[in-house]
Amino acid sequence: MGWAKNKGKKQNNRLYLTRVVPLSPDVWLPVFEGPMLAATKIWNSCVWHSREARKKGEKYPTESELKEKFKSYESWKQLHSQSSQAVVEEYFEAVRSYVKHRDNGHEEMRPPGFKHKTILRTITWKRQGFDYQEGQLILKLSRKLDNMTVHLPEGSDILKLPDGTVLKGVPVEVKVKAVYRKKKVIGLELHVTWDLGLVPVVLAGKVSAYDLNSPLVARASTEGSQQLIICRELLALIQYRNKIIAEFQQKMSRCKEGSRKWRALLAAKRDKLKKLDRRIKQLTNALTKLMAELDHDEDITFSVLGDLTDIRRKARTGDKNKKASQKINQLPFSQIEQQHAYKSLLKQVCPDKISESYSSQTCSRCGVRNKSYRVHRGLWRCRSCGAIIHADLNGVNGIIKNYLFGRCDMRQVLRLKPPEVYRWDKRYNKFVKVSPRAAA
Ligand SMILES: [Zn+2]
Repeated sequence: MGWAKNKGKKQNNRLYLTRVVPLSPDVWLPVFEGPMLAATKIWNSCVWHSREARKKGEKYPTESELKEKFKSYESWKQLHSQSSQAVVEEYFEAVRSYVKHRDNGHEEMRPPGFKHKTILRTITWKRQGFDYQEGQLILKLSRKLDNMTVHLPEGSDILKLPDGTVLKGVPVEVKVKAVYRKKKVIGLELHVTWDLGLVPVVLAGKVSAYDLNSPLVARASTEGSQQLIICRELLALIQYRNKIIAEFQQKMSRCKEGSRKWRALLAAKRDKLKKLDRRIKQLTNALTKLMAELDHDEDITFSVLGDLTDIRRKARTGDKNKKASQKINQLPFSQIEQQHAYKSLLKQVCPDKISESYSSQTCSRCGVRNKSYRVHRGLWRCRSCGAIIHADLNGVNGIIKNYLFGRCDMRQVLRLKPPEVYRWDKRYNKFVKVSPRAAA
C-alpha cells in the first residue's frame, strides 16, 4: 500500500552512503595540492566574472558561458574536465542557495565571495573522472598528469543489512577534501559516495508517521502507538543561531565591507556558527536515531514525514515580517529529512513523505474538519465528538490516514495506545522516555 503512488517518482529505497577514508598528508598533499589550488582559482574566476558583470550593469554570465570561457585557462587544465566543471557548478549552486535564503528572509546572507589563493579547494570527481575495480580507485587529473591510484580499506563497497542481505556498492562520486585546524592543513580526506542500489523492503506493512512541529515532533503508527518528542533544546539552538546572525549582521553593517574590523567580525561569526551548527547536528542526529529505533522496534515498513512544503508556501504569501519569523524559527526540516532517510534505509525501513493537507484541522477521532477546534497550539477539542487530544498527536494521526487512504476526514480505525513522551537528556546526550506529564 502506498507503493503504487510512487511509480515514476524517485525511488525512496535507493541507498547512497558516503564513506570517509583519511589520506596521509605526507604522501598525498604533494599530489593534490596543485590541482586543489587550481580549483580555488577557477572558483575565484567565477566570482570575478559575476562581479564584473554587476559592476558594468551587464547580464550575469551563465554556467555554460563560464565553462566555455575557462576551457583555455591554465588552471582548468590541471584537473579532469569534469572536476573543473564541478567547481563552476558548485559556484552556481552556492549562488542559488544564497538567493533562496535571501528570499526566505535571511537578510544576513552574503553572495559567495573570493577565497584566499592558498586555500585548498575540495576536488570532485564525477563518474567519468574515475575508475573503480576491486577496492582500487583510479582518479584522473588532466590528460597530461598521471592517474592516481588509491587503495580503499577492505569492505568499503559492502553493506550488511539487518536481515543478512549484503549490498555491494558502486562509487558514484569521489571528493578529496583538505582538513583544516586553526587555518593549517592537518590532513586530507577521501569521501566516496556509494550507490548501494535498492534496499529490499517489504512492499506492504506497518506505517509510522511524523509531524515535525516546533518544538514538538509527534509520532503515530498503525500499531496505535503515539509519541511526543520534545525538541525545545533544538529549537532554542536554532533561535539562538538566528539571534547571533542578526547581531553580527548589525555590527558588520556599521563598518566598511572588507575592512579589518569587518573581516574580524566575519571570522568571529563563522567560528561561533561552526560550533553551534555542530551542536544542532548532534541533536538532529539524536532525534533521527530515536525515530529509527522506534520504527525498528515496531517493525515498521514505511516511515512517513509530514511534508511542510505546502504550509510554508502559504506562509510565504503573508506579510514579510511574519513570513520571516515563521520560516526562521523552525526545526531544520531538510537536515532531519535527509538523516531520517538514510537511517531508515539502514534498518530496511522505507522513508517517505506526504503532504499534511488538512490533518491539523481535522479531528482524528470523528473526521470532522474545523480549524477552530484547535483551541490553542497544543490542544485539540472537538465539539462534534467531544475528543480532547494533544493537537500535534491529532495532526499526526491524520497524516497516517492521509497516507493510507489519501484523505483524513474519516473515523479513527486504529486502536490507540496511551501517548509516550521523550525529552532530551543532556547527561546522556540522547532522548529518553519520561512521564507523560512532562509534555505539558
Ligand atoms: Zn471529533
